Amino acid sequence: MTKGKIAEITITPVPSHYHKMVGRPAFADDIGNQRTEWLVRARTDSGIEGLTVANRFMQQFRGFDSSDGTIRGLISLLTETFIDRYVGEFLEVSDGQVVGVSPIHKEAFWSHGWMSILAFDLLGHELGLSCVDLLGGPVRDQVPAYDTTLFFQDFLRPDIGARQVALEAAKSHKDGYNAFKIKVGRPGRWMSPQAGLERDIEVVLGVREAVGPDCRVMVDANFGYDGRLDLLEDFIRETLPANLFWMEEMVNADVGDYRMIRHARDRIGSNAMLVCGEVDIDPPSPVFRDLVCEGLIDGYQPDTVVAGYSRWQALEKWLEPTGVITQPRNFGNSNFGNRATLIFGASSETFTMLEDERYLPNVYRSDDVKFTNGAYSLPSGTGLGLEIDEDLYQKYAGYEVSIK
Ligand SMILES: [Mg+2]
Repeated sequence: MTKGKIAEITITPVPSHYHKMVGRPAFADDIGNQRTEWLVRARTDSGIEGLTVANRFMQQFRGFDSSDGTIRGLISLLTETFIDRYVGEFLEVSDGQVVGVSPIHKEAFWSHGWMSILAFDLLGHELGLSCVDLLGGPVRDQVPAYDTTLFFQDFLRPDIGARQVALEAAKSHKDGYNAFKIKVGRPGRWMSPQAGLERDIEVVLGVREAVGPDCRVMVDANFGYDGRLDLLEDFIRETLPANLFWMEEMVNADVGDYRMIRHARDRIGSNAMLVCGEVDIDPPSPVFRDLVCEGLIDGYQPDTVVAGYSRWQALEKWLEPTGVITQPRNFGNSNFGNRATLIFGASSETFTMLEDERYLPNVYRSDDVKFTNGAYSLPSGTGLGLEIDEDLYQKYAGYEVSIK
């Protein structure tokens, strides 16, 4: 199979806007209302185009002494990996499905998972197949999504406090979402531990009341209960009426702590799943391996775009017999991340919900994907089914860096 060869790659920083101001999580300051989508477009001499985003690479900036997170570093990585290579040489295919990565690209795709998604997109276009098919075929025709933008919105509106989060959840429910993730962990950094616990509880109960009993409500503490398992136990008990669907990263990954949390959860009578792993940048690293193998977590969350499709394929195979669900994080991946996660979720048996940051449209052509009843339909196009709208793109074309 020697069809198209990659002849040109462009890199363009494109702004992607949130639908509102997004407040702070437990560990950082306010997120704000915009991010940069580092759009990568790869074109072949046969006339096809594949897409990905280099957000994760560019976020690794540590100063100009290193090429990580710089445009020169990105140019050399993309040149080395893709330029002058055939679309068909990256992934191993059997019966129209990707079954692995070719040995010479494995290291690059493991370290920079977002590049594997580009290889899938190009291959899908070349073979005339959807990436859903390349990943094993559809297991559902709709992928449910959850609104992940309920941060510490109470800090943006101190006059209203916890009620602000509930108001935003009600609005989101009206916009069609049936699942919501709330940032908690105020005891960690932003409030005194007891006041933070009380605010977390007030927020969770307020959101549950605002969205009604049938929606899924999750919490994510970003480790804000580290060292305070006593407060975490109070949190689990006091939020029991909210019937939480999962509790995410309540404390740092630690076998002893998770054993205690699991006991507390069972003793109190909570059914909330325990999920974590978005911080695992070399998944599965040893502590997460232990948490999975010892049955201490219910869901594992390496990021869709950071880990990439090839690595997630290997992770799924590993997780399958354990009963731990695949619940990839999708945060900071802009509009591209939603499509990449939609495709993954459509083909993954144990996938539950797409983490949706609800970005406003930016440079992608609107297509046949619809959001109804809290779920996205699948794109009918080949590859990721994603195309750039050249008229919209023109606005940013002046910032384009081209590699040939
Ligand atoms: Mg999280």
